[in-house]
Amino acid sequence: MKTLVVGGAGYIGSVVTRLLLADGHEVVVLDNCSTGHADSIPEGVQHIQADITTSSEVLAGAGYDAVLHFAAKSLVGESVLEPSLYWHTNVLGSRALLDAITEHQVPRLVFSSTAAVYGEPETFPITEDSPTKPTSTYGATKLAVDMMITNECAASELAAVSLRYFNVAGAAWGAGERHTTETHLIPIALDAVAGRRDKLDIYGDDWPTPDGTPIRDYVHVEDLARAHVLALTAASPGEHLICNLGNGNGFSVREVIAEVERVTGLEMPTVTGPRRPGDPTRLVASAARAKERLGWEPQLDLGRMVADAWEFSNSPIAQHALHTQTP
Ligand code: UDP
Repeated sequence: MKTLVVGGAGYIGSVVTRLLLADGHEVVVLDNCSTGHADSIPEGVQHIQADITTSSEVLAGAGYDAVLHFAAKSLVGESVLEPSLYWHTNVLGSRALLDAITEHQVPRLVFSSTAAVYGEPETFPITEDSPTKPTSTYGATKLAVDMMITNECAASELAAVSLRYFNVAGAAWGAGERHTTETHLIPIALDAVAGRRDKLDIYGDDWPTPDGTPIRDYVHVEDLARAHVLALTAASPGEHLICNLGNGNGFSVREVIAEVERVTGLEMPTVTGPRRPGDPTRLVASAARAKERLGWEPQLDLGRMVADAWEFSNSPIAQHALHTQTP
């Protein structure tokens, strides 16, 4: 297929780009590099360095078979402090892309949605039919885009799949996390054991969980990438399919720390502080629908995620990224 990867210079988009190429798809990346890195795009892939709002010019007369849409602001804490930035970038950007897809009759769309649309769920595991009550602006904007896509599919022949990621981790095929402002547990933990930052702050140990720290469902970015390729052909024309992507297993912050210490053989300096605003206690997916509709099952465990992220974090390309403390 001829595919346009919007946000292909980012963490997940750049991994998916590599798998699309390996599977024989043609790939063009549209990314303004506001948070992504141009050198994350594999050599030979055309990179249109422009904003998502130029999508109509990019799609016009180009005969794309599918768009994969990763471009978004994605920091939960920042989204709560700067809602306007998130509504403009995530929702208006996606609106422009959807209009362009409709105008130029691109038949397929795969969208990066998130577990953050569920907020603080009451029942587990979380299915796609669980109530959507986002606790952050980030989650609200992703849910708004999911709703726009549902409406668009109902009114057209667009075949769309929203993939609701749980906690993505690891690295694959030379691409990994290189966020300038890093907020995610595993890359921060790896920097802490490596001495690249002085400590890991544990955001609260008084949560209602067995060891007092929050529980998340971690999924390897390589498994996640496979789901995107499968999603290209999973929906029928006029259908909006929504699938959770997780392992179905929960790990607490302390369990992740123990795994990082085991894999690296290094001791983690930690300081326990207050809870981070907006953090839910527990997020664990049911990925039954992804199995049924995409034929997808995750294969790589937490140990492999940590090992691959560790290897990537020590590579020259990752060392170029400036990891700053969480604001
Ligand atoms: N976390 C932490 N210290 C950090 C970063 C994260 O204790 O420096 C915790 C956070 O409170 C959450 C879990 O680790 O319970 C996963 O956080 P992350 O930011 O990786 O993903 P999120 O679940 O927020 O999308």
